[in-house]
Amino acid sequence: MNTNTKPILVIGGGIAGITAALEAAEVGYNVILVEKEAYLGGRVLRMYRYFPKMCPPTCGFEINIRRIRQNPRITIHTLATVDEISGNTGNFKAKIQIKPRYVTANHSLDDSMTESLVSERANDFNYGMNNSKALYMPHDMAYPSAYVLDREALSDTDAAILLETCPPGSIDLDMSEKEIEVEVGAVIVATGWQPYDVKNLDNLGSGLYPNVITNVMMERLAASGGPTAGEIIRPSDGKKVENVAFVQCAGSRDDKHLPYCSAVCCMGSLKHIRYIREKNENAKITVFYIDIRTVGSEEKFYFDLLEDENVSFVKGKVAAISEESDSKNLILDVEDTISHENLHQGFDMVVLATGMVPVTADFKLPVDLKYDEYGFIDGTTEVNGVYAAGCAKHPCDVSTTTKDSTSAALKAIQCISRGD
Ligand code: SF4
Repeated sequence: MNTNTKPILVIGGGIAGITAALEAAEVGYNVILVEKEAYLGGRVLRMYRYFPKMCPPTCGFEINIRRIRQNPRITIHTLATVDEISGNTGNFKAKIQIKPRYVTANHSLDDSMTESLVSERANDFNYGMNNSKALYMPHDMAYPSAYVLDREALSDTDAAILLETCPPGSIDLDMSEKEIEVEVGAVIVATGWQPYDVKNLDNLGSGLYPNVITNVMMERLAASGGPTAGEIIRPSDGKKVENVAFVQCAGSRDDKHLPYCSAVCCMGSLKHIRYIREKNENAKITVFYIDIRTVGSEEKFYFDLLEDENVSFVKGKVAAISEESDSKNLILDVEDTISHENLHQGFDMVVLATGMVPVTADFKLPVDLKYDEYGFIDGTTEVNGVYAAGCAKHPCDVSTTTKDSTSAALKAIQCISRGD
């Protein structure tokens, strides 16, 4: 036990940050965990299932939340960002900005209190595929299990309704942002990733055609808590998908977009094919790829799909996607680089395997870190006492992220134990 040491600050409450926080706290170190969203869990929690066991992420998340609840050494700030870090190894000061939730912790709310609201907001947990009320629970498994009010989305009329229908004192429309300052011994940066902005891929029709979706949207389409309650249907008309194309390396391995391989999107698409085939045994799927990159024992996943007569793999980079105006079907133009045939093929939905961009590509931390040209934190040139974990350093899967986070926790513990 090291209760006399300063806490470890963990920035980011996704799987990387949660893992690092638990590893450090469970061996006796105090941790301050800061998450910018209203809930913990990050992007992994938005998946339908994940590797290697193809289980829903909620199982592992539930266990982690139980561990967090049982551990008084972890202090959590949600809706929070770290705006300033000063000092040096073992003696950092950090300023944390906490946005207002507009809901007080003193009363419990429920969905009946939001039913009469007209004000809505895009549901970012479902990547904007549906709306939620302006007063909302972020998702079924949200931790902390607390409603959030989107003040900007709330009309004056609905504000009056809320004050009328919710228990007195539960809604505080005047709640303001607050800043706290903490002293910490080490910092773990677990800020994670965001999907590449497919609006940049105008030749692939994303943002233009409703039936061109991204890989992260597919996770929510398949999930029972998603916008379609787990039905994999076309956004344009709600029809069950029968003939789906997957476009690999959508933005990745392309000098005009992301020159690197995003590492996880081949396995992601193979997983999505399973989702579709399990829900519709007649569905046909075609994967357009440059290379299929699978690793270790997970390669069997690919070999199994090669045996599926409803699944075809075409080696070729999709040049363009267009839409048939009546049917809203999509036409893909691509050269099959094995047969050298120019294909002009129709599908009822297209899934773009979009790449991984570090959050730090757009948002730099207030500490002197080195980044590579794509915004990933340079893992070999960290400031002493500041350690990056998971996708903040490189594109990687959940399993690699958790190992990396354990390693970052150990480095932080060693740093504050040595007092260097
Ligand atoms: Fe392309 Fe596959 Fe690499 Fe993703 S993992 S960038 S789809 S090769």
